[in-house]
Amino acid sequence: MFKKTLIRGGRVLTMTPGFTEAVADVLVDGDLIAEVAPSIVCPDAEVIDAGGRIVLPGFVDTHRHTWQTQLRTVATDWSLFDYFARMRLIYSAFYDPDDVFLGNHVGALEALSAGITTLVDHCHILHTPEHTDEAIRGLEQAGIRAVFCYGLFESPDYRCDARRSSLAAGWRRDDARRVRRDLLPSKDALVTMGFAPAEIDANSYEVNVDEIRFARELEAQRISCHVSMGAYDSGQRFVERLGRDGLLAEDLLFVHGSALTDDELRRMADSGAAVSATPETEMQMGMGFPVALRARDAGVRSSLGIDIVSNYSGDMFAQMRLALQASRALDNAQYQKRDRAPRRIARKARDVLELATRDGAQAAGLGDRIGTIEAGRQADLVLIRTDSIHMTPAIDTVGAVVLNANPSDVESVFVAGRCVKKDGRLVGVDWPGLSRRLVASSLRIVEGMRSTPVASIEEMAAQMMPRLE
Ligand SMILES: [Zn+2]
Repeated sequence: MFKKTLIRGGRVLTMTPGFTEAVADVLVDGDLIAEVAPSIVCPDAEVIDAGGRIVLPGFVDTHRHTWQTQLRTVATDWSLFDYFARMRLIYSAFYDPDDVFLGNHVGALEALSAGITTLVDHCHILHTPEHTDEAIRGLEQAGIRAVFCYGLFESPDYRCDARRSSLAAGWRRDDARRVRRDLLPSKDALVTMGFAPAEIDANSYEVNVDEIRFARELEAQRISCHVSMGAYDSGQRFVERLGRDGLLAEDLLFVHGSALTDDELRRMADSGAAVSATPETEMQMGMGFPVALRARDAGVRSSLGIDIVSNYSGDMFAQMRLALQASRALDNAQYQKRDRAPRRIARKARDVLELATRDGAQAAGLGDRIGTIEAGRQADLVLIRTDSIHMTPAIDTVGAVVLNANPSDVESVFVAGRCVKKDGRLVGVDWPGLSRRLVASSLRIVEGMRSTPVASIEEMAAQMMPRLE
C-alpha cells in the first residue's frame, strides 16, 4: 500500500471546468487524490515541496503507435504515402516479439518522462500471439495508464516467418478474445482493452462494420479508427454512414479526421464519439488541417495524440503548441484576406491544455477517473519546474505550460499515486541497459529495410491511393 503524499504549495491547474489558477496543496492517499485545499495538514504524509512548480493532471495522448520507438527519425521527410509503404508494409515486417516489447516499453517510459500519464496505444504490429503478449508487457512494466487497442491489421510477411505462416487464417480474433479474457479482463486496471479495426480505407464498409461489432462483443473500452485523411481517403465517408446506420457511439475514437464534414462532426457530437488529432503528422504528411479545435467548437469530444515518434518526439507540449498556433494562423488569414488586422485573438492557450488533459481523458473513456485534479480522482499528476532559463519568469501559468515548457521541465510524475519520475529522473529504470537493447533492435530492423525491394512495394501501395500525385 502506498503511503500518503502531500504536494505542498504548487501552482495548481485543476483543469476542472472554469478553473482558475491557485496556489494549493494536493493530498494523495493510495491511488487517489484525497483533498485539494489552500493548506492541508497531514502529519503522516510524505511532503513534496512544490513551491514554484506547476501542478497539473497528467497529459492524455489519445493516439500513438508506440511500437515505432526504435525507428525514431526515419519518417522525418515522409508523406503519408511514404509512411504507409515503408513503415506499415516494410519496417513492420522485421519486428520480432522482443522488438515490440522494446518499442512499447521505451515509448511508454518516454511518455511518462514527458508528463504523459495515459496512452491510447493503437497497436497494429501483432504478427503472432507472442507479439501481442510483449506489446502488453511493455506497457504494463512501464507503469503507465493505457488503453491497449488490439490491432487487426496484417502487414506482409517478407521474411516468411515460420511462426507467422503456421497461424490459421483469422487467428487474430481468437487472440483478441484471449487478451480480453486472460490479460486485460478489468476496466479498473491500469491497462485496459481497446480495439483497432484493420484499416478503414483498405477495407469495405461492411468489413469495417463487422470489425466494430466484434470490438463491441469484446466490450472494448475504445475502438480506434483512422478516418478522413483528405485525398488519401477512399471516399467511403465512413463516419457519415455509421451515423446513418445508427452505429455511432461513444466507444468510437476517430483518428486524424482532418476531412470530417460539419455534418459528420454534428453526428459525432450527438453520439459522444470522439476524435484524436495529431497535428504534427497531419500537417506534415498531407492529411489536411488538424481538426482538434474545429471539432471542439462543434461539441465533439476532441483530444490530441502524438501518433509516431518515428517522426518526432513524444512531446505533448509541442502538439498543443502546433494545434493552437496553426489554428490561430488560419483565423488570422481570414483577416489578411480582407486587408484587416485582428484586434483580439480568439483561440486561447487553455483550450489546447484542456484538449491534452480533461478532454483527452473523456476521449479515452476515462473521463470519470482522470483528467482533472479533484478529490476522488485517480492521482495522475505532473509537476513542472518554472526555474529554467526558458521558463523564467512564468507570469502566466497556462502560457508557461503551453508555449514555453518542454519535457525537460517535467520534474515529477505520478500514475495512480505511484511516483514514476522524481527529481527529473525516471524511477527504477536502467536506461543505459534499455538504450543498448533499443539501438540493437533498431539496427537490425533498419538493416532489414535495406534488403527489401522498396520500389516494387511502393508501386503496390500506390495502387491503393488513386489520388496520389
Ligand atoms: Zn495512427
